[in-house]
Amino acid sequence: LRAEYAAMRDLPPISTDGHRLTLMVNAGLRDDVAALDTTGADGIGLFRTEFEFLVSAELPKRERQQRVYRDVLDTAGDKPVIFRTVDVGGDKTLPYMSNDAIEEENPAMGWRAIRLALERDALMKAQASALVEAASGRILQVMFPMISEPWEFDEARELFEKQRARAAARGKQPPLTIRYGAMLEVPALAEVLDILLPKLDFLSIGTNDLTQFLFAADRAHPKLAERFDWLSPAILRFIARVVRACDDAGVPVGVCGEMGGRSLEAMALIGVGLDRLSITPAAIGPVKAMIRSLDVAELRETMRALLARPPANMRTALAEWALAHDV
Ligand code: PEP
Ligand code: MG
Repeated sequence: LRAEYAAMRDLPPISTDGHRLTLMVNAGLRDDVAALDTTGADGIGLFRTEFEFLVSAELPKRERQQRVYRDVLDTAGDKPVIFRTVDVGGDKTLPYMSNDAIEEENPAMGWRAIRLALERDALMKAQASALVEAASGRILQVMFPMISEPWEFDEARELFEKQRARAAARGKQPPLTIRYGAMLEVPALAEVLDILLPKLDFLSIGTNDLTQFLFAADRAHPKLAERFDWLSPAILRFIARVVRACDDAGVPVGVCGEMGGRSLEAMALIGVGLDRLSITPAAIGPVKAMIRSLDVAELRETMRALLARPPANMRTALAEWALAHDV
């Protein structure tokens, strides 16, 4: 089976009715970028920059960060890379960075990601400067994790724009263009999409944190791992609404959580209107095979009906549909 997936490396993820979907990989370390070549993916939809911070004994210097980011862009070549700014705090603590000695009772909902980065702005400035210079003369794509309110996006973008101006003032060639995105992981953000979307170049739905917050269920809790299904009407309706809002606003939207790496879940995501998935490299083969046997228009019709009147078990209904349609 593995050989069969490997043989699909150069085949595009096109459905039987001619939909060209975008399949990208999630990565976090310089070496992960090789997966672009082995899987034939369209790009890196989520580069978790904090991995470099987590494996380091001290705060990575600006120059070292810049080298890593440039290497990643060099290796990716013409394929796009979306860098996510540091998502630390919560369960990803840096031993060399104090959290101001605050004991957090709920670290996942605590001082993490963009919340921490906007306050510890020296960290964010160093990273922005490293990314801006690494992408000199190229397209830079960045996205910000755990955005809960539009002003957080504004501030993060402004911080990058200042580094762009600074680099130019110092005679450095700036990136050709910088594309800015937000991650949708906090449900509250979905209520202010009319305010947020006009500011964005793209949106990326992080289903790991999003489902944790939608169900109020710790994503790492062993007793809860099986309890809530990604294929629940609540999650699928929620994502369907977000995708519709993005489509109406003309803002590209994708999913970068682990949900998209399972074939049936990926099918459901495509069913609610998504055309872009960023997934773990090992899943590219199976998900591509699924897409190549899928009639997207027919699936979307079915999904609309299923979400309008959800069956008792959405997973079973979707699995039966897939089986009956040779997906
Ligand atoms: C997510 O929350 O879905 C996500 C992609 O980010 P991470 O898993 O790194 O929190
Ligand atoms: Mg997340």
